[in-house]
Amino acid sequence: MTDREIGVAVLGLGNVGGEVVRLLADNAADYQARVGAPVVLRGVAVRSVGADRGVDEELLTTDAQALIDRDDVDVVVELIGGIEPARTLITSALAQGKSVVTANKALLADHGAALDAAVRAAGVDLYYEAAVAGAIPLIRPVRESLAGDRIDRVVGIVNGTTNFILSSMAASGAEYSDALAEASRLGYAEADPTADVEGYDAAAKAAILASLAFHTRVTAEDVYRQGISEITAEDLDSADAVDCTVKLLAICERVTGEDGVDRVSARVYPALLPKTHPLATVDGAFNAVFIEAEAAGRLMFYGQGAGGTPTASAVLGDLIAAARNKMTGTAGTGESTYAQLPIAPLRDTPTRYHVNMQVTDRPGVLAAVAEEFTRHGVSISVVRQEDTAVGASLVVLTHTARESDLQDTVAALGELEHVNVVTSVLRLEGTGE
Ligand code: NAP
Repeated sequence: MTDREIGVAVLGLGNVGGEVVRLLADNAADYQARVGAPVVLRGVAVRSVGADRGVDEELLTTDAQALIDRDDVDVVVELIGGIEPARTLITSALAQGKSVVTANKALLADHGAALDAAVRAAGVDLYYEAAVAGAIPLIRPVRESLAGDRIDRVVGIVNGTTNFILSSMAASGAEYSDALAEASRLGYAEADPTADVEGYDAAAKAAILASLAFHTRVTAEDVYRQGISEITAEDLDSADAVDCTVKLLAICERVTGEDGVDRVSARVYPALLPKTHPLATVDGAFNAVFIEAEAAGRLMFYGQGAGGTPTASAVLGDLIAAARNKMTGTAGTGESTYAQLPIAPLRDTPTRYHVNMQVTDRPGVLAAVAEEFTRHGVSISVVRQEDTAVGASLVVLTHTARESDLQDTVAALGELEHVNVVTSVLRLEGTGE
């Protein structure tokens, strides 16, 4: 044992920061044994200092930069969130040779390249296990354990708020607005739920996962994104009728084009998933990620994707790893983006559609609808028709086709004389087709 200490600065004392500080104090003796030196909290940066913050007041500061600049700080844990001032503070810490642990998916998804360059220049660690799927060990398995494999697909439920809403709609038949209200009441949705329900949060996580899985820089802008705010109770009923449920999926996929070139497709949208698929049983605020790799086969990661204490577990695992590296004077592997695969446009992505439309109940309508699919080269898998008060409801499930052909088909259906309205179009995933 040396007389060395690992000094830690924590930025932010909210849901996650508060738990990190608590666990650092509670587990100090174990962390010392695991690292080989005491892991000592030098200070905590907040917006407002007060006696009621649950932390020794002398440790609190509103000057995050001054805390980072201290000579006795080795590792900076950023738990403020958002782009600024987090980006400036992290960049400054890295430039000073300090390792950084963060849970900030928005920053990583938008500014990953600049941060990685700063990490390489400084020869330190930037760890972010907590940025995707909270407590679930996922970043390290993808970056390190699967480094010798070839990942083909990562499909995940990575947003607890939307999964809670969709699970409760499926269980109770509630409409979206009622399920969102319940999620807010129970603390699963934020006051402004836009980032969750419109898929921005999941898209940032998809960008991070796709970058790691395919050794390619993928930003949130490269991810096709569609949220769940248009999902209706009828969509859930309709999914149920074909033994499916509806989940907001983050899909990162290696797509080989007709030209033989591998591309990365990253997309977030609500999709039908067969009830027999492992992700279909992931309910409530839980997260799960399903990975398909060439040699490993299928892997599934499941657990709590959010919450102060579970997320703090991932942050502290990173902190211990960074502290151990500081002790040995090394740094872990940085990002690898050597493959630089091009991004596949959504229109070239193969997928299946579930199309729901209201039609006039008369002979020949079904044939006209089927003809429109055939004309666009889209093969039909299942057709279901039900009489309604105003005509008939027709549901068509397709086989796999190019997204652009499916979109063209749906546009053409809207023009057919006896199709009154196309009420919903959802993709179908997880059928292995
Ligand atoms: P939070 O509860 O809103 O806490 C944010 C903290 O940052 C507060 O303590 C706030 O200080 C402090 N802060 C804000 N601006 C600051 C500034 N300019 N200087 C110093 N401190 C500042 O956030 P959170 O839920 O803990 O989330 C933190 C990070 O973890 C985010 O990146 C989030 O995306 C990520 N994350 C969260 C969860 C989760 O379940 N909450 C899960 C996974 C990842 P005051 O307390 O004084 O206002």
